Parts: sequence; structure tokens; C-alpha cells
Amino acid sequence: MNVPSVRPVIAEMTGYVPGEQPKWERIIKLNTNENPYPPTPRLKEVLTDDVLNRLRLYPDPVAQTLREEIAAFHGVSPDQVIAANGSDDVLTILARCFLDETHPLAIPVPTYSLYKTLAELQNAPVIAVPLEKENDFALPDDFAEKIRGASIVMIARPNAPTGNAYPLEAMERICDSFRGAVLFDEAYADFAENNCDSFLNDHPNVIISRTFSKSRSLAGIRFGYALAHPEIITEMMKVKDSYNVNALTQLLALTSFRDREYLAETSSRIKATREEFRKKLEAIGFRIIPSQTNFLFAAPPDRSGKAFFEFLRTRQVLVRYFPGEMTGDFVRITIGLPEDMEFLLQCAREFLSSR
Ligand SMILES: *Cc1c(COP(=O)(O)O)cnc(C)c1O
Repeated sequence: MNVPSVRPVIAEMTGYVPGEQPKWERIIKLNTNENPYPPTPRLKEVLTDDVLNRLRLYPDPVAQTLREEIAAFHGVSPDQVIAANGSDDVLTILARCFLDETHPLAIPVPTYSLYKTLAELQNAPVIAVPLEKENDFALPDDFAEKIRGASIVMIARPNAPTGNAYPLEAMERICDSFRGAVLFDEAYADFAENNCDSFLNDHPNVIISRTFSKSRSLAGIRFGYALAHPEIITEMMKVKDSYNVNALTQLLALTSFRDREYLAETSSRIKATREEFRKKLEAIGFRIIPSQTNFLFAAPPDRSGKAFFEFLRTRQVLVRYFPGEMTGDFVRITIGLPEDMEFLLQCAREFLSSR
């Protein structure tokens, strides 16, 4: 008997390739934008015997307590919130809701590569609009015209892997003129100067997604959420997995969400480290895209991104390299502890003098 065939699109696609999680011993891991600080210490206090005993039961399918507190924080109603198994789950849900053969996805490029993978799964066409590489990866002025006809546009703001945040005025113009849904993926919003949340008030086509993986140091528990018009949330609820957020994640996410002080403190430390490290890298000739995230997109003076990536690997420093014409000059460096960044700087100086 033969191994049965899957759908042709699946057989032909590569699938999303996550950043490496190597098992090396002495490694400085700056490749997947995880947070170097531990999550709030309050998590340990809530893991009681009673909680463990209640794991017998199915979790709340919609994570209502979280929805209510998240809604209150953002000044929306609970029926404008959906809880998810990481923000990747939000993206999967949106792809199922909005994309098929005759309902295209629009994206700027380069951006988070999962968007395109999800469109492929849905057999949906992709309208890919190049960012302006020599203009710090700005969005072209005619972006809104170029994406006309798409069912949804997915905009990471701030963008990954480039780190920049497009101007709010440009974002509002897109919300005004675009006929489809507009997702603002705000995975890095806690490190940014502003966000698109206020657009929810008078734009029924806006969807915002957030994650606890980056600023809240909780990539391991998988929690994210989306905010949108109640009618969009209703549709999203229909297609999500029935128990998409497990009971432990609901409890830990809620505990983390309530500790706003800890979030503010660790985020501001990371921003301070980012700015200090940026200045020092620029001083030795690197080109850095202005970042509103917990990472820097940095090109060595001779644009030898790949060689720098490989050099760092020999020093057990892992960063992310994205080959290709748009991104190949650069490496993406997650902001770690100050001492990690000092070590990386030392490596960068060594790299430059070896060339
Ligand atoms: C990290 C990241 C995500 C994924 O977040 P999870 O909540 O861990 O799934 C989504 N979008 C962007 C742009 C990211 O960088």
C-alpha cells in the first residue's frame, strides 16, 4: 500500500521555519526575539495544589476572565476580544476567516514570513508590496492602491525583521481607504512609541493582535489575543479550536497581565539596552534600521550580513539571518542582557578587523 497523498498545496509548500532552538551549552541566544528577563515572579505563587487538581477539567473555552480584563485595559468591550494560543493562532484564525482562492492576502515585504505560509495553506493569492530598502524599509506611498482587491492586509507594526514602525497617519489612511480587513500585528507594541489601538473606535475593519511571547517573557506558554469589531470576533470564534488556550496558560497569562509594573520595568530596560547597543554598533560603521522593538536589524559596513552571521556562530552567538536581495545585507539581533550585547560588540569589532 502507498502512503496516501496530501493536498497538492501541502505537498509543494515548505512550511514555516522557526528560528533555531539549539542545545549548545554556552550559547548567547539572540535569534528569536525572546526576552532575556524572567517572567513576573508572581507566576510561582499561583501554581497551587488546587490549580493542579483542577487540570482534570476542560478550560474555559473563551478565557472569559482574560477577555474581560484585556477589554477593560484597552477600553473596549469583552465581545471585542478573542484569546488565542499565541498570536500565531490569531493569524491562523484570520487566514481561515478571510483567505481562499478568490480572497487574496496583501502584505509588505519583507515581513513576518508566517503570513505568506498561511495564505499558501488556504490556496490564496498573495499581493506582496516591496518596502523601500534604501529608505529604512518605509512603506511606499502608493501602498493602499497596490493592495486594492485583497481580502485582508497583514501589517506587522513595528515590522519584523526590520524593526521600524510605519507612521500612524499612513496607517489611518489605509484603514480609511482599504475595503478589506486590516490586521495590525502588534507583537512588539510594548517596545514602541505608539500603537494602532485607537483605530478600533471608528474603523470596523481593524484587527489588532498582541502576544505575551516577547515583552512578557512568556513565549513558552503560548498566549496572544486579538481586538476587533464584535462581528469579526464572532466569526473568529467559529473557526478557532474549541479549547485553544489551555488552563495553565489562562492562569499564568492573567497573572502576568495584572503585573503592569513588571512589564514596564523590564521593557524599559530592554529599550535602554537597545539604544546603547545601537549607538555603539553605529559608531563602528554598522547600518541600523531605527527600531521600535526588542531587536535591531543591522548591516555590517560592507553589507556582509551572511559572513557576520557565520562569524557570530563560531563565537556561540546565535542571531537570525534572512537570505535574499531585500534582507541579505543584514542580521537580526535580539536585545539580550547588557553583558550579552557587550560580548556581541566585542565579536563585531573582531569581525571588522578580520575583513
Ligand atoms: C513573534 C511574532 C509573532 C508570534 O508570536 P506568538 O504569540 O509567539 O505566536 C507574531 N507576529 C510577529 C510579527 C512576531 O514577531
